[in-house]
Formats: sequence, structure tokens, C-alpha cells
Amino acid sequence: MDVIIVYLRDGIPPEGRIEAKTLRAKSTRSRLINDKLYKRKFSVPLLRCIDHEDAYYVLREIHEGICGDHVEGKSLAYKVLRQGYYWPTVFDDAAYYVRRCDRCQRFADTPRALFQELTTLTSPWSFLGIKKSFATIYRPQANCQVEAVNKVIKQTIKKKLDALKERWANELPEALWSYITTVKSSIGETPFSLLYGCEAMAPVEVGISSFRMEVFDDEANQDLCRLRLDIVKELRAKSQLRLALYQQ
Ligand SMILES: [Zn+2]
Repeated sequence: MDVIIVYLRDGIPPEGRIEAKTLRAKSTRSRLINDKLYKRKFSVPLLRCIDHEDAYYVLREIHEGICGDHVEGKSLAYKVLRQGYYWPTVFDDAAYYVRRCDRCQRFADTPRALFQELTTLTSPWSFLGIKKSFATIYRPQANCQVEAVNKVIKQTIKKKLDALKERWANELPEALWSYITTVKSSIGETPFSLLYGCEAMAPVEVGISSFRMEVFDDEANQDLCRLRLDIVKELRAKSQLRLALYQQ
């Protein structure tokens, strides 16, 4: 990383023709802003490149910090990228971090089904004599969705609590916050972005500033937020379509 910074700042390539050529190729997608290195990516325009020490801080803060929700490795890595940070081994490091997290291991979901060989099920007879009846449910469209969300929040709170179980109510706002700022595979977005049209500012961005913090301009930000609100409806429609496909 330092070599690229020196090259971008002073224009000094490393010695050796091949090394210089490799560095030139590598640095085409990098930018130096206020002496901080950024990488151009596809999901976010510029991701801040951070070193090993900062990477550990970012992982810890997002995984188990104030608004951390102890998500699994891949989701954690995506969350890091979405918050605007990058380093080459982000996916491996995130997986390793989760494997070493005591609470994740202690409170992880364990399969309760008995181990047995998979067998093929056949249904040679139609289901005769069975009467179909419907249960009375308040909102059929949301059938089981509330329970599914509650389960995730319960798991998050469980991982955040120590011996003081009665503190669960204090942990609830943080668990809810981390839930709405995590990308859901069923909708492809964070619930927060579906509501407000943009991603929330995470506590980790206060510790290590991301690109949007570095170039923050209040007026431009307000304009952009209003613009993003214009496309929220399209974003929700897209998520709804994705959810329908996901449920099939
Ligand atoms: Zn954890």
C-alpha cells in the first residue's frame, strides 16, 4: 500500500521494469485524496484502503461494536465494503474473525435434526380425505416474516449479552439498528436504504473516516439525499420483485 501511495504522490516508480509495470497497472484504479488511498470499485465509487491494524478495528467495530450484530463472515465482509473500506483479504479476514468470535461460536444456531442418510420421498397416493382449513391470521402477506425477524434480533441480543441477562432491553435499540443496516439477501438492500434512500452512517466511520466523511459537504449532501428519495419507490419495487422470486 505504501508503495502505491509513494508512486501516486511523488510519481516515483519502484526499481525494476516489471515491478514498475505491475505497480502502474495496479494504481490505475487507485486515487490519493488528502494522503489517503482509495480504490475505485463498482458498489461504492471509492473505497478507502486501510492497513492491517485499521482492518482489525473496522471488523471489530462492525461485528461486535455498539451497533454490531455478530453477522457471519461473508455478510460481515459485504458490510465492510458497503461502509466504504477495502483491503485485499477482507473476505478471508472476516471469515477468520467470525470463527474466532467466542459469542458467535457459543450462540450459533445448531442443527437439531437427527443425522441420517438422505432418502427419496415418493408420493404414490394422492392425499385423499384430508380437509384443507385455513388458520385465522391477521396479515397473510406477512405470514412468518415477523417471527423470522424476531428470531434474528433475539439471536443478536443473545450474543451481545454477558451474564446480565436482564440488560436485554438496553441492547434492543442497537440490535434493531444493526438489523436495519444489514443487507438482506431476500431484498438485496438494507431496510434502512429502502426507507431513506441512502445508507446509514455507521459508528466505525467516526473511528476511521470513509470517503463520504472525508469529502462531506452539508449542502451537497442534502441535495443528494433529496435526489435519492426520488428513487426510493423504484428501489422498493425492485426489492419486492426480488422478494417474490426469493420466496418461490
Ligand atoms: Zn461474533
